[in-house]
Amino acid sequence: LWQQLDAEYKKTFEPLSYDTWIKTVVPLQVSNQTLVLEVPSQYHADYWRIRLIDQATVSLQKISGENLNIKLVVKNEHEDPAAKEYPAVIDPGEPGQVYSHDTHLNDKYTFENFVTGGGNYLAQAAALSAAEEPGQIYNPLNIYGGVGLGKTHLMQAIGHEVLRRNPKAKVKYVTSEEFANDFINSIQTRRQEEFRREYRSVDLLLVDDIQFFAEKEATQEEFFHTFNKLYENKKQIVLTSDRVPNEIPKLEDRLVSRFKWGLSTDITPPDLETRIAILRNKAQAEGLEIDDQTLSYIASQIDTNIRELEGALVRVQAYCTINKIDINLENAMAALRGLQEISAERGLSISKIQEIVAQYYRLQVSDLTGKKRTKNIVEPRQIAMYLSRELTENSLPKIGKEFGGKDHTTVIHAYDKISQNLLSDAELKKQLSDLRKLLQG
Ligand code: ADP
Ligand code: MG
Repeated sequence: LWQQLDAEYKKTFEPLSYDTWIKTVVPLQVSNQTLVLEVPSQYHADYWRIRLIDQATVSLQKISGENLNIKLVVKNEHEDPAAKEYPAVIDPGEPGQVYSHDTHLNDKYTFENFVTGGGNYLAQAAALSAAEEPGQIYNPLNIYGGVGLGKTHLMQAIGHEVLRRNPKAKVKYVTSEEFANDFINSIQTRRQEEFRREYRSVDLLLVDDIQFFAEKEATQEEFFHTFNKLYENKKQIVLTSDRVPNEIPKLEDRLVSRFKWGLSTDITPPDLETRIAILRNKAQAEGLEIDDQTLSYIASQIDTNIRELEGALVRVQAYCTINKIDINLENAMAALRGLQEISAERGLSISKIQEIVAQYYRLQVSDLTGKKRTKNIVEPRQIAMYLSRELTENSLPKIGKEFGGKDHTTVIHAYDKISQNLLSDAELKKQLSDLRKLLQG
């Protein structure tokens, strides 16, 4: 039964939609006139309920001649997050078309170029549903996660997809800073009406990195009204941030509560298989021939930031071109050895910071990486996190990991706390300057 339905969808759906919404479904059983389908996440279930289920029920009747219902169950979330099942490299498809300039979308940031796998497949599903049914399912959609994990890419993919389906749609992409600047300019040049007309007339508004709204009160006020207007008119709003909105300091409660009307979905660092798939895709796009062993070596070297992962590939390519040698495992190792030396020269690893901070406060490193919450430990721990963020290139999730597997939001919290205290606490200021000297010589 499901097979026939599946075959029908395969014919009528676009490949991307088919792979995301249909291929991931597992038929479980038919009993009591009900076909039970298992879907991999709540997002899939929501999408099915809104978009597919009525029509599927009709189709089922045609196929079986019986009155069958469909019931959806969401796959147990506690199982391995499907990393093995969905690392699909999506066919690159047609080359990206160029759309009108004022959308500010990067041509490369499409769904076709977005590799899904553990860490991002839920966010991808949520993003695709926002693109297929703008304003209908999740509004606003907020994508959050660490630096370089694909938030901007995914957000712009929504823009491209909405335009592809409806070339007349008015899509606007801005960073929160651009929004703020536009707004301030409009006041200075007495063009607020124009500003409002522009932002309040779009069909899809993409605002990137909203954590930078912090502290900008007038801008937040204006955004609040923009948001309300768009929301009222059922226009899709998509936001990204480096953390969940209620952890963004100085973001007004009324904005935070609005953002909660929709859905927040996070992107976490990709697993090794996904990283390899991303590199393979990228190499293909650049017309590079690189064997699997080499790709998997490069992927194993950088584990938390996809922008850096791409950087490593560029580095290998440049190294081999300059030296006129083939790209293979040995040469890739040589190229990236240089990379490690550079960061080693600047000298600082998280473990070094932990060591020095522990010594300075007469603690053990295990106190810093542990969970004890006594005051004499909490502050040094936060200081060590603060310094790790300031003095190394490590991503927030990576820093969290090195501190005994803490969440990246804990690191952000520590960082904000210490930054704040530094403003008023002269003793802390002195200690930090001692520590910097110890660490940087
Ligand atoms: P963020 O906005 O989260 O900091 P970006 O969206 O700028 O990250 O992504 C950084 C780089 O990594 C971009 O070049 C992007 O195309 C690439 N990238 C991120 N995730 C993926 C993915 N899943 N598949 C392919 N490329 C990706
Ligand atoms: Mg970004």
